[in-house]
Amino acid sequence: MVLIGSHVSFKSDSQLLGSANEAISYGSNCFMFYTGAPQNTKRSKLSYDLTLKARDVLSDNNIDLKNVVIHAPYIINLANNSKMESYLFGISFLKEEINRANMLGVEKLVLHPGSSVKLSKEEGIKNIINALNEVITPLQTVKICIETMAGKGSEVGSNLEEIKEILDNVKYKDKVMVCLDTCHLNDAGYDMKDFDKFLDDFDKLIGIDKIGVIHVNDSKNGISSHKDRHENLGYGTIGFDNLINIIYNKRVFDVPKILETPYITLTDDDKKKAFAPYKFEIESIKDKTFNDNLYEVVRSYYNKK
Ligand code: FE
Ligand code: FE
Ligand code: ZN
Repeated sequence: MVLIGSHVSFKSDSQLLGSANEAISYGSNCFMFYTGAPQNTKRSKLSYDLTLKARDVLSDNNIDLKNVVIHAPYIINLANNSKMESYLFGISFLKEEINRANMLGVEKLVLHPGSSVKLSKEEGIKNIINALNEVITPLQTVKICIETMAGKGSEVGSNLEEIKEILDNVKYKDKVMVCLDTCHLNDAGYDMKDFDKFLDDFDKLIGIDKIGVIHVNDSKNGISSHKDRHENLGYGTIGFDNLINIIYNKRVFDVPKILETPYITLTDDDKKKAFAPYKFEIESIKDKTFNDNLYEVVRSYYNKK
């Protein structure tokens, strides 16, 4: 079976149990969550009881914890150390995040490399390497998966050479992997229409076995646009068939594929009532059939509920 799931929520009162149930409701066999709000670093204490209950639910539904992924909050920026206080905060937060992943039994943690801001790319990369070497311990089971970025502003990691430089300079190399994001790669200038060619290049430079997670998103913008605006599968410039080829590619068969496509609003003018499209996108992935009526299907499903 193809490993397909989505980003799900993680609420302080239901924690991993809530995330697991949400993923199951979409028909997923893998999923990803932030341990709190992605845009802040407030985190509630983990409940051992909820974690144990979640593990039961996962095994009852044949979801392997190995295919469950945590995404670190995107506000921590390890590439810039001009505000030393924030840089050090990012390091200590990441250490705590690894502990949280460990307590939950999650083995993959996705991390944005960060933005160098007014520093040079080289300095940014050096800061990331130093931070990772500060954070990673030789005995941790958690792998940090560095995400490929679109190249918006001063983002580090919009080309494979930068990712490779980070990986090559981390002391405990078996603790770092890569998270591919198809929207980001497209926006960074990599052609997702020929994924095998991309994998060949990736393999030569970094090694296919280093791919820990794949974020499957269509893109609102064209190749090399450096924008980072995700789109629902088949509604963007990468296209449904190309994304299906990525999801079903045998060379990345064991890698969890995670949708981070946009929510759909119930009415065109009510931005507050947005619903996850994942149940229907996952259905169309399993059927390998493009759903050309996704918005209406999602709206009528959640209107009835
Ligand atoms: Fe991300
Ligand atoms: Fe992503
Ligand atoms: Zn993105």
